[in-house]
Amino acid sequence: EQTAAPDHSRAASSAKLPSGRLLIDGKLVEPSGSTKTIDAIDPATGKSIMAFPACNAADVDRAVKAAHACFESREWRRMRPLDRGRLLENLALLVEKHRDELAALEALDSGKLLAVTQAIDLQFTIDGLRYFAGWASKINGEYVTHNPLVPEDALYRAYTERRPVGVIGGITPWNFPIGQAIQKLAPAIAFGCTVVLKPSEESSLTTLRLGELIAEAGFPAGAVNIVTGLGTDAGAALVDHPLVRKIAFTGSTATGQRILEASARTMKRVTLELGGKSPTIILADADLERAIPGAAAAIFSNSGQICTAGSRLLVEAPIYDKVMEGVSRIADEMQMGSPFDPSTQIGPLISARQQDRVRSLVDAGVAEGATAMAGGQSGSGDGWYYRPTVLADVTSDMTVMREEIFGPVVCAMRVEDPADFVSLANQSEYGLAASIWTNNLDRAHILAERIDAGTVWLNTHNILDLSMPFGGNKMSGLGREFGTEAINAFTEPKAVCMRL
Ligand code: NAD
Repeated sequence: EQTAAPDHSRAASSAKLPSGRLLIDGKLVEPSGSTKTIDAIDPATGKSIMAFPACNAADVDRAVKAAHACFESREWRRMRPLDRGRLLENLALLVEKHRDELAALEALDSGKLLAVTQAIDLQFTIDGLRYFAGWASKINGEYVTHNPLVPEDALYRAYTERRPVGVIGGITPWNFPIGQAIQKLAPAIAFGCTVVLKPSEESSLTTLRLGELIAEAGFPAGAVNIVTGLGTDAGAALVDHPLVRKIAFTGSTATGQRILEASARTMKRVTLELGGKSPTIILADADLERAIPGAAAAIFSNSGQICTAGSRLLVEAPIYDKVMEGVSRIADEMQMGSPFDPSTQIGPLISARQQDRVRSLVDAGVAEGATAMAGGQSGSGDGWYYRPTVLADVTSDMTVMREEIFGPVVCAMRVEDPADFVSLANQSEYGLAASIWTNNLDRAHILAERIDAGTVWLNTHNILDLSMPFGGNKMSGLGREFGTEAINAFTEPKAVCMRL
């Protein structure tokens, strides 16, 4: 049933494949260091799409030196902020023009549903470019008129400036490839940095195609560079490079820890957007017409491969059975299939490895005493599918409740005493996001205040708002991106103090 539809390969052919060349110093080039390649695989069929370069440290060095030369160049320093914004706007127009083709390529390479990629990922990409284009001309320092340590009439003045950090290494995961590339590139350029992007080896094709559009958009040579390759090779080389001043990373907590350690050697700045195990909290007074489909979408969108996925479902006892029945029914009825089929509601996971991981975590959960009310098995046939799964009677000590699964699996718990919601929600090493579903404003805001997470949604889940700070607490990361916090993430304050 979930096998790729017969016309999958025909639909997939609407994707325009990238040339496979890197973007270095304004030109589309072959790697000069490594001759190795990686196969891009279609997760819906397990078949190879094309090969692309597996860069090594020499290729990364070339890209970083180009980014550094651009950052230090007269052309970059003299560029007006408004014109930096215009570069992002040019790119937004090009992405808009190639929107259908980019969405098809993303669906082919990452297994994301075409319709969702069109409506959400590509819109986010275009909006992100425009949002940060606006910031380029609106960065100010502060003028300190009243210094608490000097008398009012002292001949002393001080002000701050915001200087770009320098060369940014942007390392991205596979679940939102083109959106994540823009999430690093756009603020870097807006705030006057230059950038080297390294997409995930699991889904590099749209970032490579983006490189071709960047080459057309009029950026000064070296402002944006794109290298592909393995994390442990190209990624690690970027983290180790002394000319890279900051790593903007999105990915798993384990890799984030490795990057944080490695960054200590060169005292790099880092922002780390890492994993999560976010609770969806449904209170007894919630509007269940909204909360039940909301809880299902919170975990099953993108086959559960969203860092903020609502993977722990905490439900107040009086409505627990009804919620479980509703979410399980949605899971059972979800149509699995080709990402190109408009009736598909759930696509494949990114890789065989990920499918194995989801399968073994669910099996372990069931062995530990959880009940699979829906799903609990892989899809049959080609591709790396896993049925949307609802696990009931899960307890806090079970592995499934603690570890990020990154698949379409929700672990549910009945909460007898509403006073326990805060401690149960916070009983996780992660602290990325949470949603609270209730019609009681007081309870909503009191819970929102006490939950230890970077984002709390009320009566919704997974809204990514570019104007809000985004990032995680505890093991979910370090620092924030988006909104005004992006200024701190990509600039360094400088204090200028003077005696008159
Ligand atoms: P991953 O950590 O395996 O890989 C992410 C990136 O890091 C890839 O580009 C990879 O090549 C690179 N990498 C791997 N090892 C490296 C090393 N030693 N040095 C430098 N780079 C290295 O993550 P993934 O499996 O691609 O993505 C899934 C994870 O990302 C999940 O944990 C998910 O929660 C997280 N994620 C977080 C957010 C967020 O904003 N918080 C958003 C999306 C995904």
